[in-house]
Amino acid sequence: MPELPEVQTIVDGLNQKIKGYTIVDFWTEWPKTIKMPLASFKKEIIGRKIIKAERRAKNILIYLSGKKIMLVHLKMTGHLLVKDEKAKVKNKYFEEKVNGYIRHSWFLKKGKQELKLDFSDLRKFGRVELFNESDLKNHETLSKLGIEPLSKEFTLENFTIALSGKRKSALHSALMDQNKIAGIGNIYASEVPFEAGVRPNRKVSSLKSEELKALHKEVIKVLQKAIKHRGTSDSDYRDVDGAPGDFQKLLKVYGQQGRACKRKNCKGEIVRQKIGQRSAFWCSKCQK
Ligand SMILES: [Zn+2]
Repeated sequence: MPELPEVQTIVDGLNQKIKGYTIVDFWTEWPKTIKMPLASFKKEIIGRKIIKAERRAKNILIYLSGKKIMLVHLKMTGHLLVKDEKAKVKNKYFEEKVNGYIRHSWFLKKGKQELKLDFSDLRKFGRVELFNESDLKNHETLSKLGIEPLSKEFTLENFTIALSGKRKSALHSALMDQNKIAGIGNIYASEVPFEAGVRPNRKVSSLKSEELKALHKEVIKVLQKAIKHRGTSDSDYRDVDGAPGDFQKLLKVYGQQGRACKRKNCKGEIVRQKIGQRSAFWCSKCQK
């Protein structure tokens, strides 16, 4: 599932490409995943201008004129593609199979310029919602989300407070609890503990203050680095140009079971273990 760095990369791409465009039409082959009747959804969005895109946890919020928000959740395999079908140079990424499962299309126009925003989603779990900006604060899932790890509010103190509600959980599960810290999933819940030298199966209550300090620092560092590398494409995630990210080449432990540890001078091996139904990865030697 796309996590914070992947969703942020998509949001940055949307802000670069579709801001100021007006939605002129909408097509879908899978209206079930739109959280309102198709006819009303179409009627509500057509004619509205795209003001900006924002990320909240793993959600994409597209602000529309008239104080509406269109929320897109990519779930397992969803991603958004921005296409200029009149472009002279064809984008070869759009021809790849991973980008070919188009479930919804938004047709956009700005003056004489036309773009198409496609939602490709192999597994069909992605969802779309529309609501009033004034309902954002009381939104049933968004309002319960925890602290944003790349916001000013993500201080060591607030990180410690967020984890203190999860004292009996494994670190791996606590980092992934969206209602405590928003945006971290399976990949970064293994990568962050590796960088901090802490095993993800440690109980939160056993973490010492230096370890919490290292984890806090690495949450920020790892996520920022992953954004810089346009996210991890270990499966279906692609950016708005249909291109894969780069961070999968830099993963230290996620998906690396059986391989030698990448930490300098460590001769350990990466192990994989299920923690609460999710796979966690760590080095059996240098992570304590
Ligand atoms: Zn190691």
